[in-house]
Amino acid sequence: MPDPFLICAFKHDNALCSPKPGATAPRQYACQTGCGNTARTDTHARQLRQRADDLDQQAAHTPSPLAERLRTSATRFRELADTHDITARPAKDIG
Ligand code: SF4
Repeated sequence: MPDPFLICAFKHDNALCSPKPGATAPRQYACQTGCGNTARTDTHARQLRQRADDLDQQAAHTPSPLAERLRTSATRFRELADTHDITARPAKDIG
């Protein structure tokens, strides 16, 4: 599933989106969760949590099994935000 809540710091050798040999840009439409090229800011984490809350609200007014899929996506977004919170480093410590 493409993840819009991130920055792609593209390095060809690490890319999970299978760029063509010699490509200088990622295949963003094929972005893969867990790619080592991803960077996420605190703002992205907040947006992930907001999106998770929105999905849960939608699920409350949606019949199953679609509601269950929405809740699963909400959980996944919260997990990504949690991972960011646990692994985040200040910008001054990077580089
Ligand atoms: S998988 Fe996503 S984060 Fe990784 S290089 Fe491709 S577009 Fe960038």
